[in-house]
Amino acid sequence: MKILVINSGSSSIKFQLLQLPEESLLCKGMADRIGANNSQLTYKTETEQIQETLTLNNHQKGLQKIAELLLDPKVGVIQDKSEIVAVGHRVVQGGSLFSETTLINDRVKQEIQAFADLAPLHNPPNYAGIIVAEQLFPEAQQVAVFDTAFHQSIPEVANQYALPKKLYTEHGIQVYGFHGVSHQYVSQQAIQYLGLKQSKIITLHLGNGCSMTAVKDGQSIDHSMGFTPTNGLIMGSRSGDIDQGIIFHLVDKLGYTLDEVNNLINKQSGLLGLTGYRDLRDIETQAGQGNRDCQLAIEMSAYRIKKYIGAYTAAMNGLDAIVFTAGIGENSQLMRASVCANLDYFGIKLDKEKNKQKTEDIQDISTADSAVKVLVIPTKEELQIARQAYQLLQSS
Ligand code: AMP
Repeated sequence: MKILVINSGSSSIKFQLLQLPEESLLCKGMADRIGANNSQLTYKTETEQIQETLTLNNHQKGLQKIAELLLDPKVGVIQDKSEIVAVGHRVVQGGSLFSETTLINDRVKQEIQAFADLAPLHNPPNYAGIIVAEQLFPEAQQVAVFDTAFHQSIPEVANQYALPKKLYTEHGIQVYGFHGVSHQYVSQQAIQYLGLKQSKIITLHLGNGCSMTAVKDGQSIDHSMGFTPTNGLIMGSRSGDIDQGIIFHLVDKLGYTLDEVNNLINKQSGLLGLTGYRDLRDIETQAGQGNRDCQLAIEMSAYRIKKYIGAYTAAMNGLDAIVFTAGIGENSQLMRASVCANLDYFGIKLDKEKNKQKTEDIQDISTADSAVKVLVIPTKEELQIARQAYQLLQSS
């Protein structure tokens, strides 16, 4: 069965076409800078690679172009659109309503639109992707895979804020969690790799956005992002945890508007705010050349992660493995080493040589006598979405 996976963002559509259950990748690519006159299209199969600059006015045009390439006699991988049995859509916010992968119907679409209040940057483009996919692939089943779904298992003790109860019961102010597709995928991989029946795992998704999840027996029981993806770890341009009193001080004493505070916390803070760079590669280079702000930003990021490791080990009363994934987690040996340094009290011992090696596969980078396994697992969110869509269609 061929499943097209779509991750539709505000100005981009990432896609992969996969064959299930073999889990083979037929092609992948991205339409980027949608809405600009220098939109970029990349398309890659096992033998062909295309990179084009063109004008894609909207998501409709972007997906149409992708569909043309899929069908192209020279570089295409299908002969007819009807070969695509399902389109799996990544949807960031499914509120408390969706704890499972779901077939999309009118009601589901309405709910996804309604949850735009909770995810104004993400749900509207996710919705737009669904609408254009329905038009372009009318014979395919449309399936929504929610990033919040994996975190629906977080118990009340960890998903509520200590605010007046009615904000939770009437207004849905609670921890929703994000990056769920990734945390679920890598935790499942770790459980399988380590052959664990019962398991206590901490997954670290460290990319542009960063989050951590405590995964007990395969279920998310706590997570560092919360009501919004601003909470928790230090990220590319997001602050992560701050004292919320700072917001009042910024507004009352320093004259910021609420929009400016929002922009400050989400777009100008984190690594960018601390150093002037948002990409850890630049920060590592600068740190190596003696830039103290960059050195400190790495130390602060690792320190924040260590605190969450401590908290989640306590929450689970133990720890079998920590898993690094996403751009930073998979590639930065410096960040992995900084996080794991001086955690031998927790039974975490990193093998320095193994930490330097890079493979595309699961890698155990802990020493043989480390009580806690330290794994690097490349995240495959598109594969996870395709798997979930496949499982849903097989069971319905
Ligand atoms: P993602 O959001 O998962 O695509 O991660 C993107 C981020 O990963 C980039 O902004 C970089 O900060 C980081 N990254 C990617 N490659 C490396 C690398 N080789 N070393 C350090 N950081 C990296």
